[in-house]
Amino acid sequence: MKNYLTAIVANREGEIFDLDGYAAVGMSSSELTPLTHEKTQDLPFGSELMLLPDRIPVLFNLSSGKFESLSKNPFDESEDIFPVAAFNSPGYVVSNVSAYEERPAASFLPLFSYGGVGLSGDSFRSSVVLIDSEKRQDLREMPEEKVRSGAKELKKLMKDNRLREHITKCALDYGCPAAKNFFLGRFEAPLPTSKSCNARCLGCISLQDNSEIPHCQNRIVFTPTPSEIAEVALYHINRVKNSVVSFGQGCEGDPLMATDVIIPAIKMIREKTDTGTINMNTNASIPSKIEELFDAGLDSIRVSMNSVREDCYNAYYRPKGYTFKDVLESISVAGKKGFVSINYLNSPGVTDSTDEVDTLFNLLSKDSINQIQWRNLNYDPLRYWESMGTCKDSIGMDNLIEKIKKNFPKLTHGYFNPPKERFKG
Ligand code: SF4
Repeated sequence: MKNYLTAIVANREGEIFDLDGYAAVGMSSSELTPLTHEKTQDLPFGSELMLLPDRIPVLFNLSSGKFESLSKNPFDESEDIFPVAAFNSPGYVVSNVSAYEERPAASFLPLFSYGGVGLSGDSFRSSVVLIDSEKRQDLREMPEEKVRSGAKELKKLMKDNRLREHITKCALDYGCPAAKNFFLGRFEAPLPTSKSCNARCLGCISLQDNSEIPHCQNRIVFTPTPSEIAEVALYHINRVKNSVVSFGQGCEGDPLMATDVIIPAIKMIREKTDTGTINMNTNASIPSKIEELFDAGLDSIRVSMNSVREDCYNAYYRPKGYTFKDVLESISVAGKKGFVSINYLNSPGVTDSTDEVDTLFNLLSKDSINQIQWRNLNYDPLRYWESMGTCKDSIGMDNLIEKIKKNFPKLTHGYFNPPKERFKG
């Protein structure tokens, strides 16, 4: 029986149960794979299991040896059943999506990733590869009451700072781990600044023009001043060892639209200290501004992309007024001035497809990129594969990561923005 994981499904009430005689199945674009114990990991702490509405699970029937789409519980034909997927904790790369088919009434799934999951004995096992074990966003290390008391303390210290006020809402209302870490004095603090963006990502979490999909949080509605930014950044840098402060958060547009306040803010920070790492998460669409930012004192950039193939990039980012060539130019400019990572929004079947891998190897051989941050794409998988078009012959996410490590040994892999103390790996 190859140690297959037992299939788990949910009923309409959201109760999850296992189905004897059926194995759990993962999908990578059009490919289906029964999940095995060897190729999965214990469900990471802090992960969530989700029922997929208006969808039918695809399972593997152990006696017939065939894949089956089951809308009814085979042991109780009166009961509808639904697929179950895992939304895995940070640091784990999804290698297979939970296998399912849409029912006719299906609408878009919300902005999460939907990993394959099954049961082995009494434990849930997830179809993931561990890529970063740092506890930066481990909820066990982020007690809510400490976040609240930290926010109260900072309110006294920075009463009129609107950015501090905004980050408080992010931490306490949206549960943003980066905002929580600011109030806990850990690792990386967020510096959201930009009200606008020159891209229209299908899966944008701060602005959705596709009414079927709710966005996760509202975009910042004001532009903080350089002093407000510097005050928040310096407070974090002065109290956290190997600290990182980052522009480009989920609650804003792209920071390159706000360099008029960011560049003076970076200069104010660097006038006071050269400790701490100043990072920018960005779509890197304007090479000239990237150059200015590094000259002002920026240490690193993280360039977001769902694909290194222009057509797939354009289909997802829907850029306004820039091209993928501008993004590649920005990477080359930044590669001469600081640390560059790509925020690789991965989806099995697209990211590990042979065309994508060949193009990625070509980009990596240019030596401007220091790190790949593997981020599961939070978007409806079937609808995403549809918008990406046919992707041929996927090699498997685990094989892809191993292949890159073998061919580009200097390149580092992770999930989080490293402090400059760790730029050399
Ligand atoms: S680049 Fe960022 S802010 Fe802009 S549309 Fe994409 S996800 Fe949204």
